[in-house]
Amino acid sequence: MVSRTGKKRVREVGATKRSTWEVIRRVSHYIKPYKWLAAGTIGCAVFSLSFAFVYPKLTSYIIDEVITKQQLEQLPWVMGCLLGAFFLREGFNSLRILINNYFEQHVIYDMRMDVYRRLQHLPVHYYDQRASGDLMTRVIEDVNNVERVLIDGTEQGTVAILSIVGVLVFLFSMSPVLAWVALIPVPFLIGGALAYTLTAHRRYRRHREASSAMNALLMDNLQGIRQIKAFCRQSHEDERFADRSEQLRQGSLGIMKAWALYSPSMALATSMGTGLVLWIGGRLVIEGSMSVGDLVGFVLFLGLFYEPIGRLHALNQMMQGARAAGERVFDILDAPVECPDRKGEFPAPVKGEVVYQSVHFSYGEDRKVLEDISLVAKPGEMIALVGPTGAGKSTIVNLLPAFYELQSGSILIDGVDIRQVKLESLRNQISVVSQEPFLFNGTVLENIQYGDLDAGSEAVVDAAKAANCHAFISALPEGYDSHVGERGVKLSVGEKQRISIARALLKDAPILILDEATASVDTVTEKLIQEALERLMEGRTSFVIAHRLSTIRHASQILVLKSGKVVEQGDHDELVARGGVYARLTQIQNTFSVEARFEQLSDC
Ligand code: ATP
Repeated sequence: MVSRTGKKRVREVGATKRSTWEVIRRVSHYIKPYKWLAAGTIGCAVFSLSFAFVYPKLTSYIIDEVITKQQLEQLPWVMGCLLGAFFLREGFNSLRILINNYFEQHVIYDMRMDVYRRLQHLPVHYYDQRASGDLMTRVIEDVNNVERVLIDGTEQGTVAILSIVGVLVFLFSMSPVLAWVALIPVPFLIGGALAYTLTAHRRYRRHREASSAMNALLMDNLQGIRQIKAFCRQSHEDERFADRSEQLRQGSLGIMKAWALYSPSMALATSMGTGLVLWIGGRLVIEGSMSVGDLVGFVLFLGLFYEPIGRLHALNQMMQGARAAGERVFDILDAPVECPDRKGEFPAPVKGEVVYQSVHFSYGEDRKVLEDISLVAKPGEMIALVGPTGAGKSTIVNLLPAFYELQSGSILIDGVDIRQVKLESLRNQISVVSQEPFLFNGTVLENIQYGDLDAGSEAVVDAAKAANCHAFISALPEGYDSHVGERGVKLSVGEKQRISIARALLKDAPILILDEATASVDTVTEKLIQEALERLMEGRTSFVIAHRLSTIRHASQILVLKSGKVVEQGDHDELVARGGVYARLTQIQNTFSVEARFEQLSDC
């Protein structure tokens, strides 16, 4: 979605529905390399569980053999065994927690790195459709949710199933009648779990989407905090945030409400089971066919039977959350990367001849943004693009580094179609200096070095001198090690502009894309920027989106664009002599920007 000014507005995109099994299958791929850790954690859990079985057995023995038969001399060794079993149970439990966390963190790291790497290789149009906050939620929260829950789920689920089976064996060996009675609530438990699973996924999806929407708004607000303050829109933003928070609250409450009904119903069913066992077991004790100790032992084992069933319910709840989060994570991992089939390289050295042949382009909507654009830029030439706002100037230059794929026509560099070369090889030939330079939150040195990560500090200083920024950088408290803040907030627009020019100089690419800065800087700064740009353009094929006529007089070619079409093409003198749109633009006085001049031409 694009605003009137051409700036993109993003919306949250929902995730593709996937089954729980698909999510588990995909996650198991991440678990495989750490199968020994997985086995270790399950092994510890099984040991811990087996020592837990000692407790009901010994309790039954204490009641029947020690208390009833008054053999108090046996008490010390029985208590010793009990204590030993407790120590071993908790020892294995502690080891299980350690191994499990280690395992979990490895898997989360791997998956998060995969998602991040994928994001780096997704095409620009993928980002046009999505809010950054939504993507951040997927990389941070959703990866955590899907992994933690599934890993805990695998471990706890396996242990729960093993303990249910193990305890059942004990129960049937102690009293088959009571064991069957204990199984009476099981069909209700299964039915309840199915009913919950069928509806929980929808609730979790809503919850994840609400969380993502809130994060997206928060990120947008933090980035636009100056605008919010300048327009005094705090209360308006409060309302918007409250609305998203409310949706998240409703989403969380929806999950809690269902859980509040489901969990106690299941606990009630198991309590009924215990009640039935006590009722029938009590009769068996009175009839003399069972000892008190065996009944107590049976009831204690029953706790070990119903407890893992309860844990399976909790896991079922977590699994539905993991499924919703997994859908969002795997959507990123399954999104097609940009231009995967390109294999070629440009033969070095690249001279920088650029040819556009009958290029047509649209951003996926019906409306054509570029129609039949053709041009030839010889190595070292400057091509200026002028036109009213929205005419397609940025789109033309964005096609050169393949930020968007061509729909028809072709673009050649040194005679090689850009669709035949790897993106890295293509983008290494092009430097981009944009109207609003983006600086990363790091030092000045790191920001300039971004143009060539291997450049030493001497090369950085040389580039900074050529970009007319060495003097102001040296005057900063920590010189080149000064931090520029988020997006370079601690620097002025003119300073940021010159740092970005230094970065491009360091990259030393044969082709340059330059979106001329329109921000009003003082005349001294403007002169410094202009000088730096001239040095940058020297010997490079440059595409300049010109916002001032003064800067393009010496351009080898000027393309005048209107609604995605080239309406005039030639150098300054030719276009003035032709007496068309460009000539009329030059006649308009007292107007700084090209766009403002266009607005004054009634037919543009
Ligand atoms: P300006 O001088 O205002 O920057 P421009 O001449 O550079 O404008 P472009 O940015 O190329 O114009 O935009 C050309 C058209 O394409 C505009 O109508 C704009 O709304 C649309 N457009 C630009 N970027 C996108 C995008 N990412 N997705 C969809 N439409 C877009």
